[in-house]
Amino acid sequence: MEKIKMTTPLVEMDGDEMTRILWGMIKDKLILPFVELKTEYYDLGLLHRNKTKDQVTVDAANATRKYGVAVKCATITPNKERMEEYPQLTEMWRSPNGTIRSILDGTVFRTPICIDAIKPVVRNWKKPITIARHAYGDVYKSVDFVTTRPGTCIMTFTSDDGAEEKSVIVQKVDGPAVWQGAHNRDSSIRSFARSCFQYAIDTRQDLWFSTKDTIAKIYDGEFKRIFEEEYGDFRAQFEKLGLTYFYTLIDDAVARVIRSEGGYIWACKNYDGDVMSDMVSTAFGSLAMMTSVLVSPDGAAEYEAAHGTVTRHYYRHLKGEKTSTNPMATIFAWSGALRRRGELDGLRDLSDFADKLEAACFDTLNAGIMTRDLVGLVEPEFRARAVDSGEFLDAAAGRLAAKLA
Ligand code: NAP
Ligand code: MG
Repeated sequence: MEKIKMTTPLVEMDGDEMTRILWGMIKDKLILPFVELKTEYYDLGLLHRNKTKDQVTVDAANATRKYGVAVKCATITPNKERMEEYPQLTEMWRSPNGTIRSILDGTVFRTPICIDAIKPVVRNWKKPITIARHAYGDVYKSVDFVTTRPGTCIMTFTSDDGAEEKSVIVQKVDGPAVWQGAHNRDSSIRSFARSCFQYAIDTRQDLWFSTKDTIAKIYDGEFKRIFEEEYGDFRAQFEKLGLTYFYTLIDDAVARVIRSEGGYIWACKNYDGDVMSDMVSTAFGSLAMMTSVLVSPDGAAEYEAAHGTVTRHYYRHLKGEKTSTNPMATIFAWSGALRRRGELDGLRDLSDFADKLEAACFDTLNAGIMTRDLVGLVEPEFRARAVDSGEFLDAAAGRLAAKLA
């Protein structure tokens, strides 16, 4: 069989621990036998980040801007324990995802992979719900303090050139109190909005956006206004594709989401997205089945699994054990990236390959062959057998080869 050709390279970001092991297995068993893979490879493994003083992360992010599509393996974000585990680290390097996100000015979209044998806790959910979380500002970049005496808190803004000065009394209190100052930037909200509209078009899904602008009339009102304004640039495409942009209050959105059958993107402010993404992913099943894509306002996309490097499994792997680590989200990062590359380059075969790769994985799961984490989640009448990662990948590879033959 002739291998599928690529024209533009995919930006490939390798990572750490168990997911790095899976990465190699996925490439060897599911990609390289079928695709003449063209990637620009960046090793984001912790030790290589350390060796390059984290320049490799910056280079990988810039390559993503240049080529438009990347696939990323999970990576360790060093903390105190990791500094002890890896004494050669010269610095507690920043989270690679944080670095890449700020260079791409992107928004993260998280989507569960759904299978028939695992029913969401919310019974009427038939299709995945994608959460887009704004990842800048509000309470995550706020300042706060406590005060002990009666008094008044005033919030003041002074422009650098002195031309604009604004003051408002936050509150006058008669005893101890707690205070918080939060902000967001127009430019960040605008990028968030553009990424959301762009991704809705790319994936042909409706976009919902929710805030609490009845209470935070000015603050959340700005979010609503900027989204409305940016929608102007995308309205024609939305209408052509029969898509809807739907704004509603966060509490109304929550009620509608629970009653819906899914199949749309829900854009959330930073805090709402933090909370709702955990709720939605848990209700759909498992973190190991959650995919994630970072989309920049100009449409560059970096695909990855939402989970981490699965450290506990890695240490068992190092002891020579075969682990039953679920590769689904990492495989779907590859299929997502290859499909996008195919669409951008007009390579039908490549996009078809991505579809078939996903279909082969679904067939494998539907045949009851799955990693241990999923076996505990399937419906009682469904017969499933727990296999290790290698067996799962072999079973999927066999089905993929049959589909491509
Ligand atoms: P994790 O790697 O997501 O794993 C937490 C637990 O979830 C695992 O121990 C495992 O449970 C289960 N799990 C996650 N993915 C699984 C999979 N594919 N198959 C089967 N089970 C899976 O989170 P963590 O242990 O908190 O973090 C480990 C490292 O990952 C940290 O260094 C962190 O910095 C990094 N991290 C990276 C990213 C990223 O690059 N995007 C995201 C999050 C965390 P059992 O052990 O019970 O089987
Ligand atoms: Mg959270």
